[in-house]
Amino acid sequence: MHTENQEVDLPILKEKKVSLYIKREDSIHPLISGNKYRKLKYNTLKAKSEQYDTLLTFGGAYSNHIAATACAANENGLRSVGIIRGEELAFKWHENPTLSLAFELGMELNFVSRNDYRKKHTEHCLECLKSEFGRFYLLPEGGTNDLAVKGCEEILTGTDSAFDIICSCVGTGGTIAGIINTAGPKQQVLGFPALKENFLKEDIRKFAANGNWDLIRDYHFGGYAKVSTALIHFINEFKKKTRIPLDPVYTGKMLYGIIDMVKRDRFVPGTKILAVHTGGLQGISGMNAKLKKKNLPLIEL
Ligand SMILES: *Cc1c(COP(=O)(O)O)cnc(C)c1O
Repeated sequence: MHTENQEVDLPILKEKKVSLYIKREDSIHPLISGNKYRKLKYNTLKAKSEQYDTLLTFGGAYSNHIAATACAANENGLRSVGIIRGEELAFKWHENPTLSLAFELGMELNFVSRNDYRKKHTEHCLECLKSEFGRFYLLPEGGTNDLAVKGCEEILTGTDSAFDIICSCVGTGGTIAGIINTAGPKQQVLGFPALKENFLKEDIRKFAANGNWDLIRDYHFGGYAKVSTALIHFINEFKKKTRIPLDPVYTGKMLYGIIDMVKRDRFVPGTKILAVHTGGLQGISGMNAKLKKKNLPLIEL
């Protein structure tokens, strides 16, 4: 499946003679983030071919991966189990749009303490989960594994070789690894991490062949799921001017970063940039509920 590249028309791009296109992977599915669709594709095929009837995975309360796994299981006739971080959510998950969506799609939600959640990938915990839920196909938190990267190798297509720079959001690094693996030798891949932590490069190297890539660490806005009024304002303006919706956790930060770098002359005139819109739009209503509580401006739908 190929998605459209949409040209972004903004005065600052004309002024700096930089062209920017957005690969609309967000259009793949209304509920599943584009990159999560790619990451789940070969995993669900494998689960079915090995006669698993259950997908089990882990995530936080606003996780795009949880929503996507619930949806993929639902569409493939599989059962899904979500191990969710935070015991307190057991009493108020129905107020959370991501968890409500996962539940409606048939996911069994299991809430665990932050302490237990940290131990989730240990042998002991996996044994406990097996005795509780039976045989299951395990997807790691964030969904990154070999097959997920293989799916993300299908994001770029032949005609994308006309771009000088490919930009991707980075969470666990699976998506950018797939992009790096298919980018051409003359293309540079830039990743915009949504997390503050520094361990990412090693994680990406585990899955990516050598390539010309780098991480731009200046636009995480304080860390995962942290936002500022300037970011919200940027997302709303960007949508008004381009009609392209951005999410506050990943794509909004990446586009803010790209436009800021254009302003700072980080790209030579004539540069052609392709930014991959990985989706994440299901997370907007959850973020808006949090913003409302803090009396901050909301993301316009
Ligand atoms: C999960 C997600 C990412 C991060 O993908 P990784 O493969 O974990 O790096 C980026 N953008 C969106 C919208 C996501 O949901």
